[in-house]
Amino acid sequence: MHENYQKLLARLNDVTQLGLANGLLGWDQQVNMPHKGAPARGAQMAVLARLNHELFTSPETGELIEAAAAELKDAPFESDEASMVRVARRDYELATKLPSSLVAEMAQTTAEAHPIWAEARAKSDFKHFQPMLERIIGLMQQAADHLGYTEHPYDALLGQFEPGVTASMVKTLFDGHKPALVELIAAIGKHADRVSDAVLHQPFDVEAQRKFSTFIAEKIGFDFERGRLDVAVHPFASGLTRNDVRLTTRFDPNFFSTALFGVMHEAGHGMYEQGIGENVDGTALGGGATLSIHESQSRLWENIVGRSKGFWSWALPLAQQHFPQLNGVDLDTFYRAINKVQPSLIRVEADEATYNLHIMLRFELEMDVLVGAVKVADLPKVWNERFEAYLGITPPNDAQGVLQDVHWSSGLFGYFPTYALGNLLSVQYYNQALKDHPEIPDEIAQGKFDTLLRWLNTNIHQHGRKFTADELTRQVTGSPMQYDAYLTYLQTKYGEIYGL
Ligand code: ZN
Repeated sequence: MHENYQKLLARLNDVTQLGLANGLLGWDQQVNMPHKGAPARGAQMAVLARLNHELFTSPETGELIEAAAAELKDAPFESDEASMVRVARRDYELATKLPSSLVAEMAQTTAEAHPIWAEARAKSDFKHFQPMLERIIGLMQQAADHLGYTEHPYDALLGQFEPGVTASMVKTLFDGHKPALVELIAAIGKHADRVSDAVLHQPFDVEAQRKFSTFIAEKIGFDFERGRLDVAVHPFASGLTRNDVRLTTRFDPNFFSTALFGVMHEAGHGMYEQGIGENVDGTALGGGATLSIHESQSRLWENIVGRSKGFWSWALPLAQQHFPQLNGVDLDTFYRAINKVQPSLIRVEADEATYNLHIMLRFELEMDVLVGAVKVADLPKVWNERFEAYLGITPPNDAQGVLQDVHWSSGLFGYFPTYALGNLLSVQYYNQALKDHPEIPDEIAQGKFDTLLRWLNTNIHQHGRKFTADELTRQVTGSPMQYDAYLTYLQTKYGEIYGL
């Protein structure tokens, strides 16, 4: 019965296990490995990745997918079987459409580009990076042609990270809330003196930070019997299986927010991975659905829960037990401090209100530069002009402007929008959870999170990779991806905090 499907599962299992083993090597590289181990580790990971790619992209896999699809043509869309075939076919097409010569050239070029970008950023010298970036964009244009698109080459690149989402969908969402966001940030800027975050900028014992952030992660529902927390320079969460999820964080001895909100963010990713259904865990349907849905989960816990007043009405007395320097700080002062909005130059340091503007800027420039509407040589000038228009400040140099992110040097075009889509989705999903369970905010104020987590498990997490962001969002909320809920959330929250 379904002989070809069984053969396909066996093959996909080999591919998945090789990928998971490589994921563990990657986690170890960033968390434990002495730095001189890098060349040997690189060699190990390259061989595993090559074997994985060869196995998955062999013509036999493609034949098995089609044979299994024929066997299962009557299986319901949402069934494990139909989803497995559908997602495997999509992965297979993505993996086989790029000629191996182009993949090799991209790997070679981005490997060369990385140190040149780092040097250019260190010297704040865009011209040093420009020729390399021009080469990379040329390769991106070729990649888009091979991957195929109907409207804009950007669709092809975006689709690698966010299947089913097109540039015009993103543009509609971004253009829809950009003017109101610019207006909100400008209004906040006029009353910047109404909020101080001085209380967060003082020495905080690192061991106490570790204990407190671990405690909070456990309280909100991250299961430490099926996961762990370590230190890494660039924090991330690595979901191997639902029973083995690795979080990382970093500690700033002089700033409260870095570790605590970083851990809540990564725990949001981690609880997603721990909530994957047992029926799909460890298979090609295991893991999070897409980048934007993953980011919706981390932002929901970090911002909507973690930066809410209700949460801190419960958590502040506990924080004061860990950090005596917070004694005497009242809830209102603390709540305002953790929500201070300040247009800043660096995306990764941006607060939740300004964040999407950073992404819109990059999205628009990527679209333009890909079709030659903006020349690579003009990127610094255009970057600075638009930055001033959106955020009201002008980068003093390219290091803090167009050169700040590593993505372009790695050939990651089409990746940035997923961060902003995650913000939009976080509010859409949370609002739906509130509709289904109006008691959630009261529970959060009592330190109870299981109703919310169970809702996320049931509606989002358990499905693994079965659905695209658009499919899942329609299924869960009855609507496509929207910006209105996110905008209302920001306007309400910050209108109150800044007395607008
Ligand atoms: Zn994240």
